[in-house]
Amino acid sequence: GKHTVSNEEIIAFRKQHLGKGLSLQYKVPIKMVRGAGQYLMDQYGRKYLDTVNNVAHVGHEHAAVVEAGQQQMALINTNSRYLHENINALARELLETLPPQLSVFHFVNSGSEANELAIRMVKAATGEKDIIASEVGYHGNTNMCIDISSYKFDGKGGQGAPEHTHIFPLPDAFRGKYRGEDAGAPYAGEVKKQIDNIHAKGRGLGGFIIEPIISCGGQIELPEGFLAAAYEYVRTAGGLCISDEVQVGCGRMGKTFWGFQLHKVVPDIVTIGKPLGNGHPLAAVVCTPEVAKKFANGMEYFNTFGGNPVSCAIGTEVLRVVKREKLQAHALAVGTFLKKELISLALDFPIIGDVRGQGLFLGIELVNEKMEPLAEQTTYLANRIKEHGILMSTDGPDHNVLKIKPPMVFSQGNAEELIFYLRKILAEDFMKV
Ligand code: PMP
Repeated sequence: GKHTVSNEEIIAFRKQHLGKGLSLQYKVPIKMVRGAGQYLMDQYGRKYLDTVNNVAHVGHEHAAVVEAGQQQMALINTNSRYLHENINALARELLETLPPQLSVFHFVNSGSEANELAIRMVKAATGEKDIIASEVGYHGNTNMCIDISSYKFDGKGGQGAPEHTHIFPLPDAFRGKYRGEDAGAPYAGEVKKQIDNIHAKGRGLGGFIIEPIISCGGQIELPEGFLAAAYEYVRTAGGLCISDEVQVGCGRMGKTFWGFQLHKVVPDIVTIGKPLGNGHPLAAVVCTPEVAKKFANGMEYFNTFGGNPVSCAIGTEVLRVVKREKLQAHALAVGTFLKKELISLALDFPIIGDVRGQGLFLGIELVNEKMEPLAEQTTYLANRIKEHGILMSTDGPDHNVLKIKPPMVFSQGNAEELIFYLRKILAEDFMKV
């Protein structure tokens, strides 16, 4: 018979042979063996409701996406220097969702690679290398991406902001530097201050990068009016605007297909990742023709895997499933319902200080009566709800935000189930503060 490797053996091997900076989810790690829709199954056949995985966008192992990949894989997979319909088909699907100004694509293999390329474009198009980014922002794992990710360089093992990175305060209207409904303008003013800093050093602005909802920052919705005002400052200074849609893109916001559209702005560059391949490594950079022209300065851009026919078949099918199954409208309906239920939960349990987010990208922040973060209780909740078969993740600079960003097929029934168990656990002794 087949020898089944124990979880202890898997962990021991990882400890010895895999990168030492890799962490494991949960104190008792789970081995997942199957996925279907919004559910995962562990080795014991136990089913979990997944409220975490925004990569499995149209559902884990969606049959049509799997089939699209399998069929193309059996035919041909080459680099994009040969003609193939698939890369054009994927670009066409994306074009349908984007404003007309954003019309030129580079296909890559990860969100990090997308942001890396976006920053190269900024440098090539502006001739400047100074970048403004948000406090607690995360944009990827490469050298340049770490250099613009305060989440990393201001955290454990980090060495602070590099010379050409300029960080403005997390635009958190709940517990940040400026609070309440009118926080948009003062936070945009903080971006302007960074532009002035760059000028004071005798340099010019390259670009400004931000997520429409700052995920690692704790699902921070950009305050109303902030993005439009910040873009205006950036453009006046000759800089380019990048919207990092790696987490929030492809219909998840519900009201809009892309996060930037919530703010009625048009970026110069948009980066797309996680959901586009539904788990297959596929990402993209879309930019204006002006930026694309300046980037094509004579140096060829080549990417061995980017835009290959298999990846493009998968990405095209993901976007077609979003359309066919009306998942954007679904995210709006279920997300609106869930947010309303979370708000009423917050009325019963005041340790939920804030409920925020759009569509199926929500967060709840746990604080005490002095507005101090409750990290321990947040971790307790995430671990306790796992015992009820529900997977949740925590984040934010103070580790006190529960994030909800499930596969988009997450149903109203799933939302009810989640609320039921949250209510049950919040009533337990440990949660009383
Ligand atoms: N941007 C954002 C907002 C992300 O959350 C991530 C990954 N968590 C990345 C970029 C990097 O993507 P990848 O891990 O695919 O390189």
